[in-house]
Amino acid sequence: MQYQAPANDLRFLLFDVLGADKLHELEKYADATPDLISAVIDEAGKLAAEVIQPTNQVGDRQGCQYNPETHEVTTPDGFREAYTRFVEGGWTALDAPLQYGGQGLPHTLKFVVDEMVCSTNLSLGMYPGLTHGAISALYAHGSEELKDTYLEKLISGQWTGTMCLTEPQCGTDLGLIRTRAAPNDDGSYAIEGTKIWITGGEHDLVDNIVHLVLAKLPGAPDTTKGISLFVVPKVLPDTGERNRAFCGGLEHKMGIKGSATCVMNFEGAKG
Ligand SMILES: Cc1cc2nc3c(=O)[nH]c(=O)nc-3n(C[C@H](O)[C@H](O)[C@H](O)COP(=O)(O)OP(=O)(O)OC[C@H]3O[C@@H](n4cnc5c(N)ncnc54)[C@H](O)[C@@H]3O)c2cc1C
Repeated sequence: MQYQAPANDLRFLLFDVLGADKLHELEKYADATPDLISAVIDEAGKLAAEVIQPTNQVGDRQGCQYNPETHEVTTPDGFREAYTRFVEGGWTALDAPLQYGGQGLPHTLKFVVDEMVCSTNLSLGMYPGLTHGAISALYAHGSEELKDTYLEKLISGQWTGTMCLTEPQCGTDLGLIRTRAAPNDDGSYAIEGTKIWITGGEHDLVDNIVHLVLAKLPGAPDTTKGISLFVVPKVLPDTGERNRAFCGGLEHKMGIKGSATCVMNFEGAKG
């Protein structure tokens, strides 16, 4: 069945129920006029129906494939092409800060686009979804140096992001994490530990993956108060060197099989 975006329902909810027709009155969102919002809804609907939905069934039938020799993960047929179209259309930049190449549109509008993307292929939508989380975390908490190094490429979709929280012995209670961060002489950290269930931990959609990893510094308390967050890229941006962050296998799931859910081993990786 061909997906048809509920464009009129979305317009009704945004304009008549939520008052999004007034967003452009805010200085920050002057560009977000009802006409522009409406055009974005229509374009996203077309993208979802014509580019994203055709990858859904094949994604779940084929799933991702793991190569234990190279630690690489291959996504299902069509995922790379669809992701590239998504990136070329500027969809990864929709609500991202202007300063780093984003379009600065309201997050409300991104929710609408997410709704359509996730309705047509949740597996594919999770790659830019996790990237969006990494962008938000870096933008809110990263140093200027980290922001300058990573944000533009994440926002353009050239690189993707992950969140590496869960470990074999803990999911909800992250105070129990065992991943460790030991200070290096150059101000970086050596990250050692295993994470499980990491969405987009390894895949072939882009050349670099920026992992945001929860780990503990030496002497940190054994509770959530002892947790720090480290940026651990798959490929080090300054040298182009492969970092020691490797996929150890794929989790077996009942659905969303086109989403690479990975075991990630950090073997003294530079963070
Ligand atoms: C498809 C998928 C993708 C994922 N992607 C990521 C990812 O990208 N990065 C990442 O880090 N993790 C990811 N996860 C892991 C996810 O974050 C964990 O599964 C989640 O945090 C729950 O942890 P757990 O599975 O260990 O369950 P548990 O912590 O064992 O919880 C089991 C049950 O007990 C309940 N429970 C636990 N503690 C308490 C408490 N103190 N009081 C009351 N009830 C409690 C929970 O609500 C739950 O119902 C993913 C998981 C899935 C299924």
